[in-house]
Amino acid sequence: MSEEATPQFRSVLDHFVAYKPGKVVVSPEGRSFKLSSNESPQGPLPSVQEAIERAARNVNRYPDNNATALVEAIADRFGMTPEHIAVGCGSVGVSQMLLEAVAEPGVEVVYAWRSFEAYPLLVGLSGATGVQVPLVDETHDLDAMADAITDRTRLVFVCNPNNPTGTIVRRAELIRFLDRVPPHVLVVLDEAYREYIRDEDVPDGMDLFRELDRPNLAILRTFSKAYGLAGLRIGFLVAHPVVATAIRKTYLPFTVNSIAQAAGVASLAATDELLARVDETVKERHRVRDTLLADGWTVPPTEANFVWLRLGEHTMDFSGACDAAGVSVRPFAGEGARISIGSPEENDAFLAVAHAYPHRN
Ligand SMILES: *Cc1c(COP(=O)(O)O)cnc(C)c1O
Repeated sequence: MSEEATPQFRSVLDHFVAYKPGKVVVSPEGRSFKLSSNESPQGPLPSVQEAIERAARNVNRYPDNNATALVEAIADRFGMTPEHIAVGCGSVGVSQMLLEAVAEPGVEVVYAWRSFEAYPLLVGLSGATGVQVPLVDETHDLDAMADAITDRTRLVFVCNPNNPTGTIVRRAELIRFLDRVPPHVLVVLDEAYREYIRDEDVPDGMDLFRELDRPNLAILRTFSKAYGLAGLRIGFLVAHPVVATAIRKTYLPFTVNSIAQAAGVASLAATDELLARVDETVKERHRVRDTLLADGWTVPPTEANFVWLRLGEHTMDFSGACDAAGVSVRPFAGEGARISIGSPEENDAFLAVAHAYPHRN
């Protein structure tokens, strides 16, 4: 075929490889445990499942494009008004909306690295330039991130706790950082794992937002983790009305579907039950980390629903050992592996692999 017969694409796409889905791994005994995506180990609550089934009967109708009931329920839950809220297709979708609102060639977006895998992907697709600031001791280096801000910076992601390391930044350093960020730069505090935090020195983004009253601070949350709705794709931003209004303009019509909206409302109504499940996960997180430490592993303190093992060159071998036992984990070749906290049985299966592994990190 001749060269000119080929459809042309944006050159930025040349830098991306197609997404590789996490493979399903099965042990010789037929066991299969998915500890690779930080999901809730439990299925939907009966009340949420019922809301989903009810909403399913009306899928011949378009969803409410303003997600009115969901937005009101979110606003109520966090003591905000609907003008403060923007919803999207998962917080990844909201992040894409944020970039749609701020990014163009020449614009810089600052984030820590390694952090959430979606940041480089979304920033790259947006046409902006990503500025990656290395972690120090597996933790955000907020001073270096403030230093990385230029006249071209429009957005900074701060992932707290950080995915994949589980580490947190505390109140004093976060406020010192915010004090250094110029008002033209939007700081997005990605709190996907907020519900798992037990360190009292970590401010709740919603409280911080109210307390500081800064138009350039926005809080990103999701229903995918503690609320157990990863498959339904709902995320939301709490921001100054001027910011939230700008972000809402980038909403692809009807992105949050009617089943997701109903499930989100039902999940907020069941917050207490869902947070009790989170308590179980936090207990298991302590057990998993303590067991690994006692076993000679180095594990950064984690405030999320996962642990991080910096395995360096052993990463893919270790992940292969997990696969062979039917435990899928999330490896980052040459760096380390992130292992989600699952049910006690799933965690035991992982701990058995880690115990038997011949090398320690
Ligand atoms: C899992 C995760 C999210 C949630 O993504 P959704 O699109 O809401 O499923 C957001 N940020 C971080 C850092 C995450 O790890």
